Amino acid sequence: MDLDRIQPKLIIPIRLLRQVIKEAKTAYPLESFGVMLGDIDGDSYFVRRISPLRRGLTARDFFILDLNEWMEAILSGRHEGLSYIGLYHSHPNASSLPSNPDIHRMMECPGEVWLIVALSSKGEVNYAAYTVSRLRSV
Ligand SMILES: [Zn+2]
Repeated sequence: MDLDRIQPKLIIPIRLLRQVIKEAKTAYPLESFGVMLGDIDGDSYFVRRISPLRRGLTARDFFILDLNEWMEAILSGRHEGLSYIGLYHSHPNASSLPSNPDIHRMMECPGEVWLIVALSSKGEVNYAAYTVSRLRSV
């Protein structure tokens, strides 16, 4: 068995990226998180809308989403003809690398794209996107 980690091609309009960063700054030093909805074409993911999630739990180094709110966001996107792309969230520790809890969730949901926006205490921002492809037998 082989686990493949790839970087998807995530295309997000600058106004939506700014919205994600603004949410991250507002939540700092806690994490913010939400859903990305849009169009999927092969390995390319076009974000058309983001939907912040507010009913879960958040801390400085993890978040737990509310499953009902998460599903409501996905269904609301579906009514607009948008596909579920994945989750975005912030890291107040300046690292855009997925944490261990992030990797666990990503492994539970192969194909889900994760956008991580990292903030430093100096206000610097960096970001990266990840996905875990399906487990495959070799
Ligand atoms: Zn994380």
